[in-house]
Amino acid sequence: MALEEYKGVFVFAQQVDNVLDGVAFELLGKGKDLAKDLDTDVTAVLIGSGIKGLADQLAEYGADRVIVVDDPELKDYRTEPYAHALASVINEYKPEIMLVGATAIGRDLGPTVSARVKTGLTADCTVLEIGDFPLVAVPGKEADQKHKQLLMTRPAFGGNTIATIACPDNRPQMATVRPGVMQKIAPIAGAKANIVEFNPGFTPNNRYVEILNIVKAVKNTANIMDAKILVSGGRGVGSKENFKLLEDLAEVLGGTVSCSRAVVENGWLPVDLQVGQTGKTVRPQIYFAIGISGAIQHVAGMEDSDLIVAINKDEDAPIFDVADYGLVGDLNKIVPALTAALKAEMQAK
Ligand SMILES: Cc1cc2nc3c(=O)[nH]c(=O)nc-3n(C[C@H](O)[C@H](O)[C@H](O)COP(=O)(O)OP(=O)(O)OC[C@H]3O[C@@H](n4cnc5c(N)ncnc54)[C@H](O)[C@@H]3O)c2cc1C
Repeated sequence: MALEEYKGVFVFAQQVDNVLDGVAFELLGKGKDLAKDLDTDVTAVLIGSGIKGLADQLAEYGADRVIVVDDPELKDYRTEPYAHALASVINEYKPEIMLVGATAIGRDLGPTVSARVKTGLTADCTVLEIGDFPLVAVPGKEADQKHKQLLMTRPAFGGNTIATIACPDNRPQMATVRPGVMQKIAPIAGAKANIVEFNPGFTPNNRYVEILNIVKAVKNTANIMDAKILVSGGRGVGSKENFKLLEDLAEVLGGTVSCSRAVVENGWLPVDLQVGQTGKTVRPQIYFAIGISGAIQHVAGMEDSDLIVAINKDEDAPIFDVADYGLVGDLNKIVPALTAALKAEMQAK
């Protein structure tokens, strides 16, 4: 593999039903940072049927070029035609880096494609940066240290440690990235990208599954990744019924209730509301952590919130290490008092 032939940062721009997934914009934001460090540009790979119209949106969020693979076979996501499309783009355009969102589609597509183009993939990354590999040169083997590598960081061993992984001998360097972790840029209205149409040809075979029916789940839970204020509860809330205290606080603040995994495991709230390593990564303006101990797997999903307020009866709870404001005491007393005070404040205005 001639590594020097591989250039540019590529981002898989996931769309479903002609609507781009937010993670596509987040990856473009990160892709721009990486491209700057590598002195290269960012290409979005848009795959689907009748989707060319989405290219301008990708330009507004930072794509310098959009490669469009448009074919009726790509109308709904299926592993085989999508993997063929993306692997063909990689073989033709030889990117140095290929980023895919760690969505249900991306988790299927990314590894399939990496195997096909014979490179490695680091799944579920939370940090991506350009740097040296090994991070510190081995004494006496300084010349072996490689520069300008993609350093891909992700939780490992059940979240008990953080691993930084590189792919120095193969290209592209591939990663899937958790939605909500990277930041999109402020859109540049009217920005235009260089649009390239590419169709590798699709010949259905026995791996082209036939979709008989698509049943869409009706969601009646809020998308906690979009919330500006989250009132999050943990096992300390004590019961499903007691979440009423948090709902009242959220209502006064115009916020949304979310929770720790312990709450989901107890069946008090649905998994859609779980924050953390195996839940959602959130970045609200205010995050209330109420009766949440602050386990590393929870903190991984909320530590980038602008302001963190923790309420816990244990003054040594690790959540206070990441909190901007901490209240030590019984949530059953503090939360209703806070709600009442905020209500009174608002009525006085
Ligand atoms: C691979 C893996 C992935 C995981 N992923 C996630 C994840 O995505 N999200 C997640 O949240 N966890 C995750 N976990 C679980 C995580 O390790 C913790 O077990 C979990 O976060 C604990 O939830 P908690 O803080 O609600 O409960 P606890 O740890 O039991 O904490 C309850 C807290 O409430 C406080 N409290 C109790 N009563 C009151 C009261 N009356 N007033 C005030 N405070 C009170 C206690 O002092 C305590 O600090 C994961 C674990 C593993 C191994």
